[in-house]
Amino acid sequence: MRILPHDQPVLDALASREADIVGRAVDWCAVNSGSRNLEGLERMREILARVLALYPGTVESVPLQPSREVANDGTLTEQRHTDALRLTVRPQAPVQVVLTGHYDTVYPASSPFQSVRTRQDGALWGPGIADMKGGISVLLAALEVFESHPEKDRVGYSVLLSPDEEIGSLASAPLLADLGRKGHVGLTYEPAMGDGALAGARKGSGNFHILVKGRSAHAGRDFASGRNAVAGAAEIAVALHALNGQREGVTVNVAAISGGSPLNVVPDNAVVRFNVRLPDAASAEWVQNEIEKVVLAERLTGEHGLEVELHGGFTRPPKPFDESQAALFNHVRTAGELLGQTIAWKPSGGVCEGNNLHAAGLPNVDTLGVVGGDIHSENEYALPRSFVERAQLSALILMKLASGEIDALELKRLRTGA
Ligand SMILES: [Zn+2]
Repeated sequence: MRILPHDQPVLDALASREADIVGRAVDWCAVNSGSRNLEGLERMREILARVLALYPGTVESVPLQPSREVANDGTLTEQRHTDALRLTVRPQAPVQVVLTGHYDTVYPASSPFQSVRTRQDGALWGPGIADMKGGISVLLAALEVFESHPEKDRVGYSVLLSPDEEIGSLASAPLLADLGRKGHVGLTYEPAMGDGALAGARKGSGNFHILVKGRSAHAGRDFASGRNAVAGAAEIAVALHALNGQREGVTVNVAAISGGSPLNVVPDNAVVRFNVRLPDAASAEWVQNEIEKVVLAERLTGEHGLEVELHGGFTRPPKPFDESQAALFNHVRTAGELLGQTIAWKPSGGVCEGNNLHAAGLPNVDTLGVVGGDIHSENEYALPRSFVERAQLSALILMKLASGEIDALELKRLRTGA
């Protein structure tokens, strides 16, 4: 692999656009798009739709189904979502690349963290600057300059920008699966780690909610006829926590117990919420089985007379570092070397759209966004120089997919065996 004379102007074009690539991301961060702020998400979606309209191909606004959620009072509710955006360019080209990002953030409309400032060390500090409005800007910049490359017609691509990644991608999962099946290689724009490293293997993740329903009664006059849902929830929490350490790489985090009643009433409602992380499909089966045993045990032998319901499930399958991933990451490292960038990777317990895409059969790198850190906190930051660097890395990957120096079909074959 090498940088050819017709590749260089594409890379140079990115360097000359640095102010815009960074500046628009800063502007986008001032639009609050917390995953549940539908009004802000819609504003962000409109802004991005206007940018996507400048590309060749078709832009679609794809409606998403509401996701089922369990409220603290035990009722089932629906979380609505704004549309996902999908750009499809040259769907008949021999190489098909899938690029994904999310335009939601973890910061609600009520958060005090609403815009970007520059830290004394020059880093940009703001909500979503790394995760991932900076990444979306990088993705779009790389594609824009790639359109001026003489071999662009060999590569077609789909871009999916979703509104629900930070709450598990339940609604956009079918779109991700569809693109994962059809594409040869995936590029996702989560931030790289603070030292620039990419995420290699990723664990899988599941979110579960156990609903416990009892019977309320006056704690003084009629205690015996009550059925205490909080006591049942506590038994369940202890049993779930005891699953830790039983199987390599599997963790169960009992995150919340909600419910209860005034002190003089036996509580008839509680919800236990927990997250599971696991390394492979076999452990998913094991842990699902163990969770069901906990639920069954509570029904049969726990606090008497409670109804216990299990909701939720695995949202992100594990993303093992298989042969296809190793081959792709080696190509990315080589591309980085040509640009004077050192590309390393390490396993991550975090999860993202890359998990979904891989499970659907797509080899992918999912941390091609800007370099930054402290994401999901009010210290979130990104390094401004990384915007152009990472856009150049993506543009070079696209150019090498076009030239065949990165063999996309071979990568897909390594992943699916087909
Ligand atoms: Zn993200």
